[in-house]
Formats: sequence, structure tokens, C-alpha cells
Amino acid sequence: MNPASPAPLPKEAYRLTKIVFTLGPATEEEDMLEKLILAGVDVCRLNMAHADEAWTRKMIRRVREVCLRTNRHIALMMDIKGPEIRTGDLAKSVDLKADQLIDLLPTPGKSKDGVLAVSVNYPLMGGDVAPGTTVLVDSGLIRLEVVATSAERVRCRVVVAGKLSSRRHINLPGVRVRLPALTAKDRADIAVGVEEQVDYFALSFVREADDVDILRRVLTDLKSRARIISKIEDQSGIANLDEIIVASDAVMVARGDLGIEVPMEDLPLIQKRTVDACIRHRKPVIVATHLLESMILSPVPTRAEVSDIAGAVWSTADAIMLSGETTTGKYPLECVQFMKRVAGRIEGNATKGYNEDLPLKTHKDRLLRSAVVLAQELGDKGIVVFTRNGLLPQALAALRAWRCPIYAFTDEPQVFRHMLLMWGVEPFLMEFTPEPEDTICNAFAYLLRRGWVEPGDWMVVVTNVLAGQKSIDTIQMRPVE
Ligand code: PEP
Repeated sequence: MNPASPAPLPKEAYRLTKIVFTLGPATEEEDMLEKLILAGVDVCRLNMAHADEAWTRKMIRRVREVCLRTNRHIALMMDIKGPEIRTGDLAKSVDLKADQLIDLLPTPGKSKDGVLAVSVNYPLMGGDVAPGTTVLVDSGLIRLEVVATSAERVRCRVVVAGKLSSRRHINLPGVRVRLPALTAKDRADIAVGVEEQVDYFALSFVREADDVDILRRVLTDLKSRARIISKIEDQSGIANLDEIIVASDAVMVARGDLGIEVPMEDLPLIQKRTVDACIRHRKPVIVATHLLESMILSPVPTRAEVSDIAGAVWSTADAIMLSGETTTGKYPLECVQFMKRVAGRIEGNATKGYNEDLPLKTHKDRLLRSAVVLAQELGDKGIVVFTRNGLLPQALAALRAWRCPIYAFTDEPQVFRHMLLMWGVEPFLMEFTPEPEDTICNAFAYLLRRGWVEPGDWMVVVTNVLAGQKSIDTIQMRPVE
């Protein structure tokens, strides 16, 4: 057994839905990290919008050290900030009044006709918007409407008033902006993430598959095997959802920005559609943002937040994510414990069954479906699968077999960490022996020793066997002895 294998989790702690938390001032100290890791978080997210290189390296190493000390390993996700449009500096904040005019300039410049002028860091904006276009400032708190455009200025009328201060975020809902997929800072951050061997890169504002391909090429050039999570957060991402999912390794429903870019009432439909599409494509999907927003300040969630978590768990999203709750919130540990309780309650109440609607395209898909059916008929004790790239467990997870744990063994440390994001997959890191039968016996012995299975349990094993020169996919049913 590899000494770096994860600490045994009590069988009762097994959870189908994984938990991602975002690291920040509230959680970066070692003792809090230790509590979160022992409480059962699966993935730690570093939000590069608020991180520099020194902090990033320090935190990655700290998380790994705490993992080693607690003998419970979690995956690391670097969330790349991506390009964004912002207003420029203002000498002091300005109270914008309804119906007032404001000019957005491609470079800092003078006001004209007595209209307030503010620069914006996106010189192409004048060509992208037209009279009638909505411009949202400061996460949608201020709403402007374009009334006229020229090369020098975009003149807007204030529709929803508010206080404008320096460097506020601008959203242009529905506008096809011409921003690069990656900025110079993003590329520098990626190089650091690759050096520190993060497991996942989350890419912000993915608009089309090409954006993912650009990051993929950067990672390939840097010889990284990290996986790519595409954040769906605007209307282009929604319009090109299927091609983005195909190009990505996983997807995040980034409800924070989505809630600015689309009408709020569309969010539940977009969330459901994205989760379903990801399952159909056999790719993990994370539901992110505001799941426990009130717990940033309060030790108990709202009833609506409990229902929101339950909805994500019912929809069989692979993971649910904490952001502000664990970066600056007062109750980060309580948030994780609460998520676990709600997820556990919903999962425990689910009726037996699996996703019978999953399209089966290949014979291997049919073999995996048979494994699930067999495992459920043999008493729901679970499936044991061996993998070097994580794809078999990922395909098994897409069958969403309630009450049928997928025990996935790998000898690749990063593949072990990739599998931490997958619905219902409990990964284990273990050396493989040249003789496949010995590897199976070692896996069974490990599960037995750690209390995951009991003598007499009937398990299904998904593995390859050698027949002459050929490797053949097989499923076996075997009792634990
Ligand atoms: C979001 O918008 O929901 C999100 C997760 O992205 P970020 O925190 O980077 O804005």
C-alpha cells in the first residue's frame, strides 16, 4: 500500500456529492485548514482574482502539508481570473443619479458637453455595443443604457442609480465581447499552478470551445496533466454549452456572474440544463456560489439555502461549492458541516436506481451499465474499478447509481485527486502489481481492513484481463473473503 494513501474515512462518511471550498483569510491558517480537511472537503479552490504568486505558492504548500499530516488528501483547483472589463480610477466616488448621462471612454480623457467621463479598460467597447445595450456596473448594482456610440466615447443614460467608485466591474449582458481567453496575469498564474502541480484549472468566462483549447495548448506545452473546468457565466457560454462541455474536463455553473449576465429567473433552468448536459457528456459539474451566502455572517442558514443545496444534490451535480462563505465568512467550518448534513440527508433518502436515460454509445458504456445493474442486484455493496486515467470511474459515475459506491483504485497520485470531484466515486491510491489478480486481492484486502466492506459482501469488479496479447474489458462478481 502506498504510504500516501488517504486516511480511512468511516464508511458512514461516504458522500455522493463532493464539496469544494474557496481558500481565503477565514480559512488559510493551518488549524482551520485541518478542521476543514477532516470535516470532509474534497477540493480546495484558489481564486486568482485575489491572489499573488507568493500567497499562492505558500497556500498550495500549506494545504499539501496539512493533507500529509492528517493523511487525508484533497485536490487543488486554481481558478484563473480571466479578462474582465473595469472602469478606471476616479479621484473620488460619484453618486450617479437616474437619467443622468455618463460617457465611457476607451482611454482616460476629458468630459464633453458637461457629461461625466469615466475610462474603461476595453478599447473595443464602442464597436461592441449599440444604442439600447445594457451596461451593468459593480456586479449589476448600477444599470446604464447606451444612447450613442462613437470611436471616442460610449454615451450612456443611468437607469438604476448608485455610487460609482474606482475600478468597478462591468458586464455587458448578451454582448459578444472580443476579449482574449487568457490575460498576461492568467498565463503567469497558470505557470505557477503547473509548477506547483495543481490538479484543476478553472477558466473564467468560457464563451466557446476555442477558449478551452487555448488553455489546453498552454497546459500541454507546459507538460501538465491538470484538468480544465470551464466556468459557464455568460450568455455565450450558455449558447455554446455542448461544445464547451465536450472540450472541457469539467464544468462549473458560476451562478455569481450568471446572475448578472442573464435574467435571475432563468438561473434555475440554466443550472438544471447544464447539470443534465454534463451528465450526458460524462463530465463532472460543480454548482457554485451563494449556496450558503447568509452564513458569511450568520451561524445558521436560511431555509431557502437548505432547499438550494437539496436541489443541487437532487439534480446529482457532482459537487457544490463554497466561495465567500469560506474566504471571508465568519463560519467556514459550520458551512462545510451544514452542506454535509443536507447532502447526506437527501442522498440517504434517495430511492434505489440509476440514470436509465444516459445514452449508451459504445459497448463499453453497456458493460458499465451492466456493472451498475449487477451491483445493485447483488445488494448495493459497490463496484471496484481500477484506472490509470480516471475515465472508467467517470463514466461509471455518469450512471448516477444511488446506493452503489464506486471504489476507484489508481496508482497515479494526480488521477487519485482528479477523482475526488466525481459523484459517488471514493478514490484510493495504491500500487498496482504486475499480476492483475494480486491487485484485485490487494484492493479487497484494503477495503476490508479499513471497514468499507465486510466479509460476505458481493462486489462487482470492473477491470481489464489479458487474453493472449489482447486486453479485454470485463466485469466480475466476487465475494469479499
Ligand atoms: C461565480 O461567478 O459564481 C464564480 C464562481 O466566479 P468568480 O467567483 O470568479 O466571480
